Amino acid sequence: MYISESFIPILKNNPSEAKIKSHQLMLRVGMIKQSSSGIYSWLPLGLKVMKKIEQIVREEQNKIGAQEILMPTIQSSEIWKESGRYEDYGEEMLRIKDRQNREMLYGPTNEELVTDIFRSSVKSYKSLPQLLYHIQWKFRDEIRPRFGIMRCREFFMKDAYSFDINDEEALFSYNKFFLSYLKTFKRLDLVAIPMAADTGPIGGNLSHEFIILADTGESKIYTDKRIFEVNSDGSKLDKKSLNNLRNKFEKFYSVTDEKFNKEEFEKKVIKENRLITKGIEVGHIFYFGDKYSKPMNCSVDLPEGKKDFVKMGSYGIGVSRLVGAIIEAKYNETEEIMKWPISVSPYDISIIPIVNKNDKSTLEKAKRINTELEKNNIESLIDDTDENFSSKIKKMNLIGIPFQIIIGKQIDDDFIEFKELGKNSKKVKLSEIIKIIKKQKEKN
Ligand code: ATP
Ligand code: MG
Repeated sequence: MYISESFIPILKNNPSEAKIKSHQLMLRVGMIKQSSSGIYSWLPLGLKVMKKIEQIVREEQNKIGAQEILMPTIQSSEIWKESGRYEDYGEEMLRIKDRQNREMLYGPTNEELVTDIFRSSVKSYKSLPQLLYHIQWKFRDEIRPRFGIMRCREFFMKDAYSFDINDEEALFSYNKFFLSYLKTFKRLDLVAIPMAADTGPIGGNLSHEFIILADTGESKIYTDKRIFEVNSDGSKLDKKSLNNLRNKFEKFYSVTDEKFNKEEFEKKVIKENRLITKGIEVGHIFYFGDKYSKPMNCSVDLPEGKKDFVKMGSYGIGVSRLVGAIIEAKYNETEEIMKWPISVSPYDISIIPIVNKNDKSTLEKAKRINTELEKNNIESLIDDTDENFSSKIKKMNLIGIPFQIIIGKQIDDDFIEFKELGKNSKKVKLSEIIKIIKKQKEKN
């Protein structure tokens, strides 16, 4: 993509309304545009990143056998009255009336709707387990929307739901998601720690929040530092491995605010290992048994002939919040450089020719390189404007594409100036550049 043909509305200065880095940067490089309080449009650069995150989330859901569906954003109040949450949810729920005066709402989450779908077709234990997910916009009328897309009113979420015959099987499903979350965040190059959490309005008794460390996070966390060393590589999808995996994490005290107990913390964690800090919640999983299936009368026939309410869990990932969370985690404050993980970077590489009005040879070279890269499925952003070199570099450092090719006045056909953000540049052959980038992409 050529910058001259792109829609990347870059601002000269940091917008004053933005308080944290991710919000500033996303507005600055034109990833999003606020349309009203807590509601945003996603522009090409921002959307590209979000779509890549979405795809990674999807692939990891599919790997544990979850099936994708798509439920609507607008729901009927009827099912929420059945579960009892129509009253309980309070003002965060956006309530709407249609022309027949029917009470509708913009879905803040989907436990009721998915239970309704499930109960209308599944009648027997033989069809269990079922893991269903969708990736869809949600609306919560947050009292104080802030930090851009980190806490907004309309946001993009992956939410999954599990249906099982009994507690034991349901915990197996829970643990599958536990593993799938660790893998998802790893592919996004994030260290997300599972922490025992409160269940809030979703209800139930088992829950973990997945938190990445960041000073600008809104979750206060209390943890045993050693949890950061737990390795989840190679864990398999059977009951025993998954149980072991969760035990490995749960050995270390690690909780959010609501679950914090000072006495317990000080008893279980020696002083040197205590870490009290802040983080961003990027995912949240719950096991709540028959909390919804019971009031909604969603039961299945058991092998012995009896009936029981299906046991459910739900599993969310903040897909749009992750765009901001990755910036908070990856932005280098001292060097003022953003570096996207290649797995979600809007482009794989940027090409920066020094363009002279009378001499288009550097631009010609950029085009030739781009053609080669395209053949190898490497996507580049080419700055073909006639801005001066230092402002081009500054712009690309802000956008955060992890690799750069710089084409100066002396054109050498064999060796190209190549730079990985945050490192020194070097002269290498194009074939070498292609190899490096392909290898990085394959790792994912
Ligand atoms: P929070 O405590 O941040 O309000 P929550 O516990 O209400 O989150 P869940 O209902 O578990 O959130 O939703 C699943 C995920 O959706 C969260 O982990 C978070 O990443 C994301 N999310 C929740 N609320 C918002 C919001 N207002 N804006 C953006 N993302 C959100
Ligand atoms: Mg919330």
